[in-house]
Amino acid sequence: MSLFPTYNRFPLTIVSGDGTKVVDDKGKEYLDFVSGIAVCNLGHRPVEVQTALEKQLQEVWHVSNLYHIPAQEEAVELLTKDNNLDYVFFCNSGAESNEAAIKLARKHTGKETIVTFKQSFHGRTFATMSATGQDKIHEGYGTLLPTFEYLPYNDVETLEGYENDQVAAIMVEVIQGEGGVVPGTQSFLQAVQAKCKELDALLIIDEVQTGIGRTGSRFAYEHAGLDPDIVTSAKGLGSGFPVGAMLGKEALAESFTAGSHGSTFGGNPLAATAVKATVEKIFDDSFLKEVQEKGDFFIQQLEELLSHPVVKEIRGKGLMIGIELKVGAMDIIHQLRDKGLLAVLAGPNVIRLLPPLTASKEEITTARNILEDVLQKAEHLQNV
Ligand SMILES: *Cc1c(COP(=O)(O)O)cnc(C)c1O
Repeated sequence: MSLFPTYNRFPLTIVSGDGTKVVDDKGKEYLDFVSGIAVCNLGHRPVEVQTALEKQLQEVWHVSNLYHIPAQEEAVELLTKDNNLDYVFFCNSGAESNEAAIKLARKHTGKETIVTFKQSFHGRTFATMSATGQDKIHEGYGTLLPTFEYLPYNDVETLEGYENDQVAAIMVEVIQGEGGVVPGTQSFLQAVQAKCKELDALLIIDEVQTGIGRTGSRFAYEHAGLDPDIVTSAKGLGSGFPVGAMLGKEALAESFTAGSHGSTFGGNPLAATAVKATVEKIFDDSFLKEVQEKGDFFIQQLEELLSHPVVKEIRGKGLMIGIELKVGAMDIIHQLRDKGLLAVLAGPNVIRLLPPLTASKEEITTARNILEDVLQKAEHLQNV
């Protein structure tokens, strides 16, 4: 008996967490710059969310979406404030939020093609796997859904030349996360929006990784000045309580009527409470400003490592940062862990850093020093 081996696990068992720090079963402490892959954006066990969940645990856990759930309404209020989005559908993961977006776009437009981009990542269900523009994700699963087309990311010319009158939506990440922390250029993202208008297609922004304050704004599309029809969210949305959400403009509501889509668990009282407490804290201008400042500070500190011979490029925004190496990054990630810093890959050569948005400048500086130390010792790797 065993777990299906769908994950290569690090030799690490975390038994407790508090803020940016986690402790393993041997009592060793680490700075967690993975945050459960951009999930624990308020750090581990943030007091506001824990208190709200403890209260909800004493009241009711689950009632189904057959009944009103006040915490959902309150979460919707927060999620749709100061943007052009009006309606929310709650589900349980990023893949499900993208699945909902794909279904809604097809139903609303009456068209079937969904355009996505090479090296994108949108999830592991059949439709979101098909949407994902990476061969390794498709391998072994036979014929994919036929209505997805992949264009090269950050290639304005190809996008402008693309013609197809059957496009329901273009789905894009503002920064490709799993694909290597690759930010979309301003001209590319604007061209995506213009192409949607031209094709009378919906613009879907996958903010599953980039949203909920990760890049220093509520959602990363705000930096690019975009006006999406649909935004999908999950990961950081519930501070570690599993929950996803699809946000959409008012006009779309007529296509997602009673019985057309659903979820047993989606946004149940516990999940909705986690969302409300999380978003209340993060969607605050002074909190977000601090994230921006810490992100700029971190990138500035990391740029000092650019002179290092194995470092190729530092990319990212806010506290979503990728360090591209000239060598494989996995060995470095193991060494960082030995020295007390958790980081994660984004493609074979990229170290991805996703600290809690609440990490202090001291913690950021400590992480930078551990990185410098490990990279210094890795100098010999450039010759292999
Ligand atoms: C993680 C991720 C997903 C999938 O989310 P799950 O909760 O694992 O289903 C989708 N899109 C992006 C951009 C992601 O980073």
